[in-house]
Amino acid sequence: MTIDLCPNCSSDQYVKSGIVNKRQRYRCKKCNYYFTVNKIGKKIDDYYVNKSLQLYLEGLTYREIERILGVSHVSVMNWVKKYNIKRPYNTNYHPTYRILNASELGKYFLETENIKGAGVVVTELGDKFMLIKWERFKD
Ligand SMILES: [Zn+2]
Repeated sequence: MTIDLCPNCSSDQYVKSGIVNKRQRYRCKKCNYYFTVNKIGKKIDDYYVNKSLQLYLEGLTYREIERILGVSHVSVMNWVKKYNIKRPYNTNYHPTYRILNASELGKYFLETENIKGAGVVVTELGDKFMLIKWERFKD
């Protein structure tokens, strides 16, 4: 069995650090987290990697992503670096976002004013939804 990434921060910078209960133990050089090959199941779900990068691309800051998804901003920074994600647009521009449940989301879209002249992305967030909005033709 091979490991690719630290289960805590998804860094690939780890070193062997002794044997514990007959299992190889590793230490992450970035976050100092100790883990054995058995802990691999605890690896952060790919779902959160995708979601984090998605939000990053939508213009959210690392801290905002941490607050929303509950993954460390360090992890997000590592993923952005690892996958070489670059934001295609002006970083001065910051979208607004809100967390809504399904029925609030429905109401939101019933109001034409809410979505007129704007770009909107809806992404699932546990039992709620996150709506990210930006004015499309803003100067
Ligand atoms: Zn780590």
